[in-house]
Amino acid sequence: MADRRVGIGYDVHRLVPGRPLVLGGVVIPHEMGLLGHSDADVLTHAICDALLGAAGLGDIGAQFPDSDARYRGISSLRLLEEVVRLVGAAGYSPHNVDATVLAELPKLAPHLGGMKAALGRILRLPPDRIGIKATTTESLGAVGRGEGISAIAVCLVESAGEGAAQRSSRAMS
Ligand code: MG
Repeated sequence: MADRRVGIGYDVHRLVPGRPLVLGGVVIPHEMGLLGHSDADVLTHAICDALLGAAGLGDIGAQFPDSDARYRGISSLRLLEEVVRLVGAAGYSPHNVDATVLAELPKLAPHLGGMKAALGRILRLPPDRIGIKATTTESLGAVGRGEGISAIAVCLVESAGEGAAQRSSRAMS
């Protein structure tokens, strides 16, 4: 019987001038960027938390404390890489991820393919197992006023090896 577990992650960061905007590992042209200890990639952080939650490993704040200078300015893709390693050490591998980014601006649709590619390389998942949607909040609330960007993600993990074994047996049949 497959051991599968689901996790959820949520994150929000403030938009400020003078920072690059990085979402899903992609640098997106915009006059403002997200404030944080790392590159503040809110989408990748939500995915990290979903993976950690699914594997029973706590959250990104516990794994990578912002008091630790090693993580200052770090690419969140490096954090995701470490999360995938931790999840693997706990006996699981990602099965699929689905996420929504909430942002008033900029328009994210042209960048979703790039985000899927960047995240998929680290998650070792094909594009059809990574869902990324973008929506506004209809000008409502802090995100709607353009004060920040938030993201929510769910992830399913399965016993390590199981999915890969099933995929390769399907490929052989
Ligand atoms: Mg964060």
